[in-house]
Amino acid sequence: MTPDRRDQAIRAAVEQGLLGGDTEPVVALLDIAGIRAGAASLRTAFQQVTDAPVLHAFAVKAAPLVGVLRLLGSEGLGAEVASPGELALARAAGIPPDRIVLDSPAKTPGELRAALDLGIAVNADNAQEIDRIEALIGALADGTVPASPMGLRVNAQIGAGTIGALSTATATSKFGVGLRDERARDWVVRTFLDRPWLTRLHTHSGSQGLPLELMAAGVRTVYELAEEINAAAGRQQVDTLDIGGGLPVNFATDEETPRFADYAQVLDREVPGLFDGRYGLVTEFGRALTAKHGMVLARVEYAKRTGGRPIALTHAGAQVATRTVYAPGAWPVRIAAYDTKGHPRTGPDVVQDIAGPACFAGDLLAEARGLPLLEQGDVVAALDTGAYYFTSHYAYNSLVRPAVYGFREEAGGGGIAFTLVRDAQTMEEIVAESGGAHPDALL
Ligand SMILES: *Cc1c(COP(=O)(O)O)cnc(C)c1O
Repeated sequence: MTPDRRDQAIRAAVEQGLLGGDTEPVVALLDIAGIRAGAASLRTAFQQVTDAPVLHAFAVKAAPLVGVLRLLGSEGLGAEVASPGELALARAAGIPPDRIVLDSPAKTPGELRAALDLGIAVNADNAQEIDRIEALIGALADGTVPASPMGLRVNAQIGAGTIGALSTATATSKFGVGLRDERARDWVVRTFLDRPWLTRLHTHSGSQGLPLELMAAGVRTVYELAEEINAAAGRQQVDTLDIGGGLPVNFATDEETPRFADYAQVLDREVPGLFDGRYGLVTEFGRALTAKHGMVLARVEYAKRTGGRPIALTHAGAQVATRTVYAPGAWPVRIAAYDTKGHPRTGPDVVQDIAGPACFAGDLLAEARGLPLLEQGDVVAALDTGAYYFTSHYAYNSLVRPAVYGFREEAGGGGIAFTLVRDAQTMEEIVAESGGAHPDALL
């Protein structure tokens, strides 16, 4: 989102009353054209390096909103799901089963059965899950091969990035089969040879804080494993490689970097053979597809000064920016300041805290941040929050999930138009979620 476009959208949001006084002091906005352009750039990036079929399955957890999934679906993307809820969202968005991939690390027998019934792709996490799937397949009517493409998730154990909690490819990561563990590689090869229905390998080695070369090293490991299995099988048993997602996002400026094309080129260079057409490919990008196309807007309810520090008390805190609040060093967000009319606030930078509404001291969107001095009634925008922020609500203090609007420029210079993607949560919903149907349960 360019700064101009952002300013335009924020002014329109204020003028059109989206931040409506008492009821909606915080809203989230998504740039529809930006999301479309991101999806197009992903498609193009891979089309430029391969003729192989590529399914780009959006990692639903990055933005679990039906409207977003449908928008991405209309751009030809699929969905990577990791829970029954995410699968339900993908289905509600009309994503066809052959574009859905189930990857969760802890799937119940019921979930696996449902996945087989639907025919969606499944990546098993470990040996126990392989056994479980095998038992289910054995129970299929004709006892043969399921329609679902079946894969195994492996961990190349290439090491951590800069954010421990998001590093999926460490030696002891909880995900998949650790390929460098003793005898693990042999076990994987044998498991495939014994089970012709296993046709895919999956890895997700990337994440925020990981260099592209390290991500590519993880993909190379999986590619080499596929080659080894296929050589041992004497045929192309592994026909599809699911290379995961994890392209890092630049949260420091408006620049979109690295780009999907950068990563595709690194893969092309580091993993010769990956793109030569023998393997179908699946990607699972999340954050990089939506982060920079979303933002949270919040009113400054009060502006005060404590211990010499100016503090803007806003309505956006841990409920919409959980990672930032609990791990501010790893997840700083950019804040932009606007006045009561939605115009960019100007003036010298003043070191101030941008606080949220939750009742704990650490509920800060930004601490000691230099910005034009915020005043009561101003609007702050938390930028680049289109993935894993307002879509990953945290229910602390029973704060409501804010409304989400998509925006687009109206044809013929008609200004900015908003469409509702998600209603703000109502008080009835808050009460219902909190056991409102069972008030006497503990009497
Ligand atoms: C979270 C996740 C992704 C997406 O990661 P991003 O960093 O959002 O691109 C893809 N695949 C799997 C298996 C994941 O768990």
